[in-house]
Amino acid sequence: MREAVDVTDRRFWNEEIETLPPAARRRLEDGRLVDQIAYEYETSPYYRAKLDAAGLRPADIRGVDDLPAIPFMEKTEVAASQADGTLLGVNQCAPLELIVRIQATGGTTGQPIRIGLTRRDIGDYGEMGARALWAMGCRPGEVVFECMNYNLYSGGLSDHMTFETLGAATIPFGVGHSERLLTMMSGLADPFGIWATPSYAVRLAEVARGMGLDPRGIGLRKGYFSGEAGLQVPGYRERVEEAWGMVARDQYGTGELGLHSGECDVLDGVHFGGIGFAVAELIDPDTGDVLPFVDGQQGEIVYTSIRREASPLLRMRSHDVMQVFTEPCRCGRTSWRFRVLGRSDDMFIVKGVNVFPLAIQTSLMALAPQLTGEFQVDLDRPPPIDYPVPLTVEIAPGIPEDRRRTLAVQVVERVRRDVNFTADVTLVEPGTIAGEGKTRRVIRSYRGEAG
Ligand SMILES: [Zn+2]
Repeated sequence: MREAVDVTDRRFWNEEIETLPPAARRRLEDGRLVDQIAYEYETSPYYRAKLDAAGLRPADIRGVDDLPAIPFMEKTEVAASQADGTLLGVNQCAPLELIVRIQATGGTTGQPIRIGLTRRDIGDYGEMGARALWAMGCRPGEVVFECMNYNLYSGGLSDHMTFETLGAATIPFGVGHSERLLTMMSGLADPFGIWATPSYAVRLAEVARGMGLDPRGIGLRKGYFSGEAGLQVPGYRERVEEAWGMVARDQYGTGELGLHSGECDVLDGVHFGGIGFAVAELIDPDTGDVLPFVDGQQGEIVYTSIRREASPLLRMRSHDVMQVFTEPCRCGRTSWRFRVLGRSDDMFIVKGVNVFPLAIQTSLMALAPQLTGEFQVDLDRPPPIDYPVPLTVEIAPGIPEDRRRTLAVQVVERVRRDVNFTADVTLVEPGTIAGEGKTRRVIRSYRGEAG
């Protein structure tokens, strides 16, 4: 039994790690990386072959600075190795006798991959998540409804366990059954929180109104959000907070690494909570060249596990492009922070400038009452993109015919001003683009991709 302690004054979940000076952090990372590489070389023919092919022995890797000598790994390599029915595939390093949980990663592209966790991996997952949640303002004694998918994906059970690790009273509600959820919520006298996607919070407010309930009259005061870029879209956080009278905080994780990062009250990027468990590099997504990990730098993030038993990663390309911030944060945490810019697959380059769907969405939201915010880009000719980019945009319901021409011109001007490219705009009826789940924003039809 853990003793009840007064936590009201505690600013961090794990003060020693979260305020570690950079040099001490690097020593910790170097030491753990050396042990991890030796373990992988010993237990995985795949990792051994990778190092051998690069002419490396484990002893050649003395620290994080030596990582660029090792070739990248791709999630598709793991997926391919599971395709014949192999449970965990090439990066399995612990025997099945030590693996106590198997989850899958989701994703809009490619098939899910299966990930194993040992008891120690689960403990580490909880520790990382608790750091992130503490930064986001979650505390023991708080009641949290977890409204994520518990089937298969780590966002359900494993993320649930991070709330329990922290000490929150966590209700495993799952997805769907919104009316039953609202009935339960509105029956509670004291305030509580929710762990969900931001778009679910918006939809839940609509369902509440449909039931004749005022969302602000329900005790939902804190939102821990993940799974979508929603809160980064200007105005979206305010919209969610306003709808419920709540504080909304952003969180980030990946199926392979776990829930690892959360936003502090300074709201200046998401703090990486995986210090001591994984290290990150930034690369140019086109050339694979390593970029300096310095304040303000943008690049694709590459992860390496430094304390993982079952399914470790060694220079795994995430295909997520981020901007990192390494200057100290006012909250006192010394960990680097980041902002997710988008998937490198969704990024396209116009006249040397990287364009991400999130930037287009942000620009379109400025015309929000007249547009739904849904859109799709169709690159119908190969790069270089020196042509007006075909951009299909949904109009809001009830926009009259005679307004549409002017609206199309406004979209072109807005996008040119905000995102720096010329769009060839087609307006379509509401509901044409948005489907269930995540919508593909950029289609490369010159490569045969279909919307
Ligand atoms: Zn901070």
